[in-house]
Amino acid sequence: MPGASETPAGPDPASADPASAVPASAVPASAVPASTIPASTIPASTARTGIEVADLIRARIRDVPDYPQPGVVFKDITPLLADGAAFAAVVSALAAGHGRIDKVAGIEARGFILAAPVAYALGAGFVPVRKEGKLPGPTYAQSYQLEYGMATVEVHSDAFTPGERVLIIDDVLATGGTAAATAQLVQRGGAQVVAISVLLELGFLDGRAKLPDLEVRSLLGT
Ligand code: AMP
Repeated sequence: MPGASETPAGPDPASADPASAVPASAVPASAVPASTIPASTIPASTARTGIEVADLIRARIRDVPDYPQPGVVFKDITPLLADGAAFAAVVSALAAGHGRIDKVAGIEARGFILAAPVAYALGAGFVPVRKEGKLPGPTYAQSYQLEYGMATVEVHSDAFTPGERVLIIDDVLATGGTAAATAQLVQRGGAQVVAISVLLELGFLDGRAKLPDLEVRSLLGT
């Protein structure tokens, strides 16, 4: 497997996020039907339709032009996280409709914020997918191409058990490289990627092209 390695490859790079962050443009939205959320996990006040959730997100994502570098429009989710009702609705929607999930894999760093409550809601375990050099134990590592250079993500090599059903969570799907590398790590552990579920998809970058055989769900497309 190109780019694969089983050892941490040196010190933590400057974040992969800035290097992979990209300008936004408009594409049609997709939505997750809130009606598929297991009833036991949803507070009544947060059960909303996919369109309502998309509207909540749209109104609470802040575009930060030229951050972290010129030409990039950074999608800042902190206003969404700061709104308790919106945060709860988004967590419920991300968790919805996947059937049994054994583990939720969150991608560093903002994916952690979303994946941990999703795991809790589903009664599943949480697995951090980290940038290289951050995990203390033996790891699987997967490198992938950025516009300029490479990035690497890692998981503990015992994070997944063969046959486990895994949900991957992140905030933004851009070029798809990070999610594709994460899916490879899950599969390397013998587990099954049930879906990749994100808040926001930058559709013009066609990240789905890097995830051809995987279910990809976004609560909002831009
Ligand atoms: P990619 O591998 O290109 O799909 O990039 C996805 C990762 O980079 C996610 O972990 C995002 O948090 C981050 N990212 C990429 N582009 C942006 C953006 N415009 N705004 C915020 N985060 C981004």
